[in-house]
Amino acid sequence: MPKVFYITTPLYYVNAAPHIGHAYTTLAADILARHKKRKGQSVFFLTGTDEHGANIEKIASQAKVGQTEWVDRVVGQFKNMWAELGIEYDDFIRTTEERHTRRVQEIFERLHKRGDITLGTYEGLYCLPCENYWDAGDLAPGNKCPVHDRPVETVREASYFFKLSKYQAPLLEYYAAHPEFLAPPRRAKEIINFVQAGLRDLSVSRTQVRWGIPVPFDSKHTIYVWFDALLNYITAAGYGAAEPGRFQALWPADVQLVGKEIYRFHTVIWPAMP
Ligand SMILES: [Zn+2]
Repeated sequence: MPKVFYITTPLYYVNAAPHIGHAYTTLAADILARHKKRKGQSVFFLTGTDEHGANIEKIASQAKVGQTEWVDRVVGQFKNMWAELGIEYDDFIRTTEERHTRRVQEIFERLHKRGDITLGTYEGLYCLPCENYWDAGDLAPGNKCPVHDRPVETVREASYFFKLSKYQAPLLEYYAAHPEFLAPPRRAKEIINFVQAGLRDLSVSRTQVRWGIPVPFDSKHTIYVWFDALLNYITAAGYGAAEPGRFQALWPADVQLVGKEIYRFHTVIWPAMP
């Protein structure tokens, strides 16, 4: 099977209705997909939604609806918007779909068996809207999240960790060997500096979040929403599925569009993960 031009939008988080930023990125992807199709290339254009995590739990409860009802509602809004804008995606993946959750559990288990995921304790400064811990040095004055301008909380929990530190040297070698991997160049420099400064292992499970994919061998934990979500780019492409050749024809993606807030996740954690 010849290589298909594979383009992805970010996986949109369904904490709120879609806005102009989502439209901007998705239109850009749609334009590129149409351009490639017009030139006769086979194209696979993926978009979708990121639906798990503490933030969705909280927002659904504030809205006095179940999590499933909440995510279904917002997914409907995204799909309506893409229909109105004439976006011609080839697939729309939801992280609550079985085709995704099953593969995420398989990958988590495999990384655990391989020793790339181990159990430990995490204590950190957490921002709920970010779904992410912050380094003290990166906080705004008053111990505030620099993105949301709200105080972070100290959270301590048992957690599985992904050995991201082990991939510092391989990542730097990869960036050096594939200068086209990181774009634009200004962002590439930031990422290389960040990785050169040293990588810490990444907490990839939560005991206090129920709205997530369960860790298959330890039901007290759910899988951290970012670890879950990033894998959509391969689960949608048929990774681990019984369709011979499909994944090989798609992967690696040719273009992955991401916003600057999530660039680091996509350029450091994502290439180290599977
Ligand atoms: Zn934040």
